[in-house]
Amino acid sequence: MNEQILQEITDFCRQRGLAESTFGRRAVNDGKLASRLRNGGRITTETLERIRSFMSRTHGAALPLLDFQCEVTSHSDPDTSYQINLNHPKCTCPDWQTRRYKLPDGHLSKCCKHIFGAYQQAEIDDLIQFTVERINTGIAKPTRQNDR
Ligand SMILES: [Zn+2]
Repeated sequence: MNEQILQEITDFCRQRGLAESTFGRRAVNDGKLASRLRNGGRITTETLERIRSFMSRTHGAALPLLDFQCEVTSHSDPDTSYQINLNHPKCTCPDWQTRRYKLPDGHLSKCCKHIFGAYQQAEIDDLIQFTVERINTGIAKPTRQNDR
């Protein structure tokens, strides 16, 4: 059972650019959670539930995928516009094409201002709520992985 949850934690952390110790602290206030599991340590059902609950809450903070298409005008050049499909959010602007595309699907930072504009057109006010939640859980800072 340890292996399964450990695998889930590892995948989750890799996708979100989150350190395992940070994950443990945020989820169950135990920075050594992953290493204890790896060493065969047992966890209670309650702990397992808290881990699962943390992951599902944080999954909820991913970019929502919508069946919605629109055109967004460039902020700096009114003659340029970008086609956006929120089914698989991507953008043709330089900001997105040079760095954001590298992020895993669903990553909130994979959202440039045009994609954000498209969400506004789709009237997804919840996105703002998602963003706030994400900042509160400390997951809105993994931008260092872009520095490579
Ligand atoms: Zn863009």
